[in-house]
Amino acid sequence: MLPRWHIFLGLISTILITLVFPNTSMLYLLLFFLSSFLIDFDHYANAAMKTNKLGLRNAFEYHKILGEIEKEEHKKGLRRKGDFHPFHTIEFHLLVLLLGFLWTSFFFIFLGMLFHSIMDLISIQYKGYLYRREFFFLNWLRKKVRR
Ligand SMILES: [Zn+2]
Repeated sequence: MLPRWHIFLGLISTILITLVFPNTSMLYLLLFFLSSFLIDFDHYANAAMKTNKLGLRNAFEYHKILGEIEKEEHKKGLRRKGDFHPFHTIEFHLLVLLLGFLWTSFFFIFLGMLFHSIMDLISIQYKGYLYRREFFFLNWLRKKVRR
């Protein structure tokens, strides 16, 4: 899902939270909203590392090309994993949730990440690309070590 959609959906859900729970602090609302799209920083970091360019436009271009390759591979029946995105793993979500038990701010970051990940899941399931994502950090690490 494109960042602009994550920002839009994050904003809508932040407004809904504000309406349902009007006493929620502005800080928590802001953390929820920001984490609902900044979790995609790992996509940017991937693009920056693979292309050795820091520009945001470059990262968008990288993912646009990657998307076209994905589509081609999918058509040919090739089912392989895509880039690894550590912030999108179950383990990272659990870590932030655990921190949320210590500091409430992290709980709202977790909720924003969870919301983002659910939107991602719906989107990639709809496209039929679920196999491309590595959901577990440990799986990725195990494969990395084996190589
Ligand atoms: Zn994402």
